[in-house]
Amino acid sequence: MNTMNGTVYLVGAGPGDPKLITVRGLEILRRADVVVYDRLIGMKLLDECRADCERIFVGKEAARHAMPQDDINKTLVEHAQAGKIVCRLKGGDVFVFGRGGEEALFCRAHGVPFEIVPGVTSSIAAPAYAGIPVTHRPDENFPSGASSFAVVTGHTKDDAAPPPNLPVADTIVFLMGVRALPKIVSQLLSRGEKPDAKIALVRWGTTTNQQVVTGTLATIEAEVESAQLKPPALIVFGEVVGLRERLQWFDNRPLWGKTVVVTRAREQASSLVEELENLGANVVQCPTIRVEPLIEYSICDSAIELLSNFSWIVFTSTNGVEHFWKRLRLAGKDARVFANAKVAAIGPATENALQNRGIFPDFVPQSSVSEDVARGLISLGIENRKILIVRALESREFLETELRANGAHVEIAPVYRTVSDNSNAENVREMLHNGEVDWVSFSSSSTVKNFVETIGIEVISSTRKGFKVAVIGPITEKTARENGLVPDVVSPSAGVKALAEAIANEPRASATGEK
Ligand code: SAH
Repeated sequence: MNTMNGTVYLVGAGPGDPKLITVRGLEILRRADVVVYDRLIGMKLLDECRADCERIFVGKEAARHAMPQDDINKTLVEHAQAGKIVCRLKGGDVFVFGRGGEEALFCRAHGVPFEIVPGVTSSIAAPAYAGIPVTHRPDENFPSGASSFAVVTGHTKDDAAPPPNLPVADTIVFLMGVRALPKIVSQLLSRGEKPDAKIALVRWGTTTNQQVVTGTLATIEAEVESAQLKPPALIVFGEVVGLRERLQWFDNRPLWGKTVVVTRAREQASSLVEELENLGANVVQCPTIRVEPLIEYSICDSAIELLSNFSWIVFTSTNGVEHFWKRLRLAGKDARVFANAKVAAIGPATENALQNRGIFPDFVPQSSVSEDVARGLISLGIENRKILIVRALESREFLETELRANGAHVEIAPVYRTVSDNSNAENVREMLHNGEVDWVSFSSSSTVKNFVETIGIEVISSTRKGFKVAVIGPITEKTARENGLVPDVVSPSAGVKALAEAIANEPRASATGEK
């Protein structure tokens, strides 16, 4: 074996939801020099790759192979022979109709070391996300239970048909079988299955596009036809399908089927995105601003040198905390510089960012509205005190003005700036035109202004009837109204969880109509 060889890792990416990759799989993906990936993986996984990682798409569709298997094999081996860490990322599990065996054999034949990282297979996960367990112990509602399952291909050689002899199992899952559905149904009937036996199809299982069609052997073809269900989907045959009535959990969450636009900068969006996704929403990011470091930091740097002179250091955002810490580290210092000062954090996320760095703020105002923050700080007695506010370059000046008016000596340390970002604007404009957006959410006044500016007022007014608007707090509400976006929902508190829940709690049918 050539000692210069890299390794080929055959990694199961899981069934579609990017979070269903294994810990080991993610570890390899983050380390890889080259990723060779398929069509059915959760594409967000690619964001985990190193920036300099080479990404090679070899996706195949049933009949059309983007890259022939021989070429895929060669690609893997050649990169490994060049000493690279190769991550072969495949949908579901690598050995369940994944050709992982062939690729591993080819590596072995060429003396290239390989490792297998099994994945969560769609054959079990997609039914699970449809509320269908592939096995079940008998109970009073389901006396026969299901004590075995089989996974079968619906596509043999170049034929859209299952193998002639179907296995005997209580549950049969067919992969790659949508086109072969009529043949599968007739094979099952002709081996004596009842016409009222239960069967379901799950398309894009575990993703926000999941679509489930249930029926019986007698009705399923018509059901699939009327739902216009296309591949990629799998078929589950067996009485376990009936359990969906009692076990549906994923595609009935409050925001299921709703598309929500998040207008925060990418750097800040993740917590809101996660809250919305947990409630079932399909989230589309439309960042209108991007956070960037400043060109020079002399004010911040000298404030850091003289930090012990300040009575209070006020952090207004997580970005402020992050960028301030970078300067702190560059100056060769750490959290000990705060020893003599009190620390205030505006908003729970900022508090959290400080806590993660070992600083438990002395003051976190109940509300993040500048007026309330100012009132809170003033009530702590700030006359003649030196206060440092760490914030964005361009920002409302209300807080400092108010504190100064109450006798404090205020200095500002700008640590980052926001610039406009229209990376997804075109796509969002098109979605608005097509009526594909249910909600647009705003978490601050600046997101409102930037969204109107980036998307364009004409597009917004001509599509306004098609979507609802959700905002955090009264200040953002005011800005939204001023910009012609009367909110349908105003969440009372600053946290993103409250905003997501406010959207979810909005009665489904409303003035703007249910789509
Ligand atoms: N190795 C994969 C299967 C590859 S075969 C695994 O273990 O999941 C590809 C077939 O898998 C598709 O034609 C479809 O039938 C099924 N499939 C893959 N992902 C799916 C998903 N998210 N939802 C439903 N079916 C899926």
